[in-house]
Amino acid sequence: MGTAIEVRDLRKTYGDFTAVDGIDLDVEEGEILAFLGPNGAGKTTTIEILEGYRPRDGGRVSVLGEDPATAPLSWRERIGIVLQESEPVPELTASESLTMQAAYYANPRDPAEVLGIVGLADSADQRTRKLSGGQKRRLDLALALVGNPDLVFLDEPTTGFDPSARRESWQMIDALRRLGSTVLLTTHYMDEAEYLADRIVVIAAGVIVARGTADDLARQVGAVTRISWRPTGSADVPAGLGVSRQGELAVIETDSVVPTLAELTGWAMGSGTDLADLQVARPTLEDVYLTLTSGRSEVGETDTGPASPSRPGQVPG
Ligand code: ATP
Repeated sequence: MGTAIEVRDLRKTYGDFTAVDGIDLDVEEGEILAFLGPNGAGKTTTIEILEGYRPRDGGRVSVLGEDPATAPLSWRERIGIVLQESEPVPELTASESLTMQAAYYANPRDPAEVLGIVGLADSADQRTRKLSGGQKRRLDLALALVGNPDLVFLDEPTTGFDPSARRESWQMIDALRRLGSTVLLTTHYMDEAEYLADRIVVIAAGVIVARGTADDLARQVGAVTRISWRPTGSADVPAGLGVSRQGELAVIETDSVVPTLAELTGWAMGSGTDLADLQVARPTLEDVYLTLTSGRSEVGETDTGPASPSRPGQVPG
C-alpha cells in the first residue's frame, strides 16, 4: 500500500493570523483517517488545501501523487468530496442526479449500484426536494462516490443526524473501506471517530497535537483503564495489583489491562471469590480528546500536552 496523502510543514495564514502552523500528515491508501479538532483548529483550511480549493502559504502537499495546487482535471476525477452542506437539484430524482453526475467522469460507478450502497435504492425515483434530511445526506455521499474516487473527503458527514441515521451512515462509510477507497473524515463525534477510523489525528490551534489509534492517544495522555468490583468474601487481593477502595467498590487503575485481569481472575478462581459487578471501563476517546485539546482554543496558547523536540505541542509524523 502506498501513501494517498503526504503533507509536510503545511502553513496557511489569513492576514497576520496563522490558521495552520506547519503540520505534517500522512494518510495511507485504503485507510480511514479521522481528523479531529475544536472549532477553528484548522481542519477545513487543511482539507480545502488538500482538495485544491485553497492556496497554501508554505509546505509540501502530495495528494494521490499530485500537488493539488497544480493538479490536472484528471486528478480531480479521482477525488470525491462530501461537503458539510449541499443542495441537490430539487426537480431531479435521486437516480437522475446520480446519472447526471456520473456523466462527468471517465470511469463512473453504476448509479443504481451506488444508490444501493448508500441505502437509497427504494428512493431512486423520488425527487430530491422530497427526500428527508438524512436521505439528502446519503445522496451527497452517493454523488461523491459515483465518480469511483480513490480518495473521499467527508466533512462532518453525520452532523444533525438522529442516532439511528448516524449508525446507518457508519455502515455506509465502512462500505467505502471494502471498496478500497481512502477516506479522510472530519467529525466532532468521538464515537464516530472511534468506530470508523483506523487512525486519528488531532489538530488544535493550527498544530497537530496527537496522532495514532484511539489506544495510542489514550496512552499518550496517560489515561488508564478502571477495573472495579464489589468485594464479597474475606480473601485478600494480591497486594501487587494496587487495589484501592472507593465506597463499596474495589478499584484497580491500570494501563496494563490483560495481565492485570489475568492475575485478578486467577486469584478469584483460586480463592473461590466472586468478583461481583465486575466492570472494566476503558478511557473514552472523548476524555482523551478533551485532555489533548484543553487550553488550545487559540493559536499560540500555552502548550499543555505532549511535546516534541522540534515544535512544542506537535507530535512527529
Ligand atoms: P470547525 O470545526 O468550526 O469547522 P475548523 O477546524 O475547520 O473549524 P477552519 O475553518 O480551518 O477551522 O478555521 C481555522 C481558523 O482560521 C479559524 O480561526 C477561522 O476563523 C480562520 N479562518 C478560516 N477561514 C478564514 C478566512 N477565509 N479568512 C480569515 N480567517 C479564516
